[in-house]
Amino acid sequence: MGYDQNNIFAKILRGEIPAKKLYEDDYALAFADIHPRAPVHVLVIPKGPYVSFVDFSAKATPEEIAGFVRALGRVAHDLGLDAPGFRILSNAGANGGQEVPHFHVHLFGGKHLGPMLAA
Ligand code: AMP
Repeated sequence: MGYDQNNIFAKILRGEIPAKKLYEDDYALAFADIHPRAPVHVLVIPKGPYVSFVDFSAKATPEEIAGFVRALGRVAHDLGLDAPGFRILSNAGANGGQEVPHFHVHLFGGKHLGPMLAA
């Protein structure tokens, strides 16, 4: 599947629609999820045009991968989630329930998050 340049996260990266940005560097952008499922619900996305984790892991440069992973860790740390704990999750494709076809990691925290998956 090719990358859709008009997906909503591409528009956020281009500044065409607003987002509550929490962190940004050369490799990643973190912003608040518009429909939070936990007291803290942040989306962390790479800046490059990758559809999913498989696409990102296969095509991104080592610098992009390292930059993205470091940004994700930094955001979790800077939001104070490291000590109390948190969850990261990335939906992929139809079975994963992925709605937006730009690779993203959900970062959840701020309460005990319960079972890993809904029954
Ligand atoms: P997923 O099902 O993993 O693709 O999740 C996509 C997420 O993007 C959902 O949690 C949505 O609430 C979130 N979302 C969709 N549009 C926006 C937006 N404009 N700003 C922030 N989050 C959004």
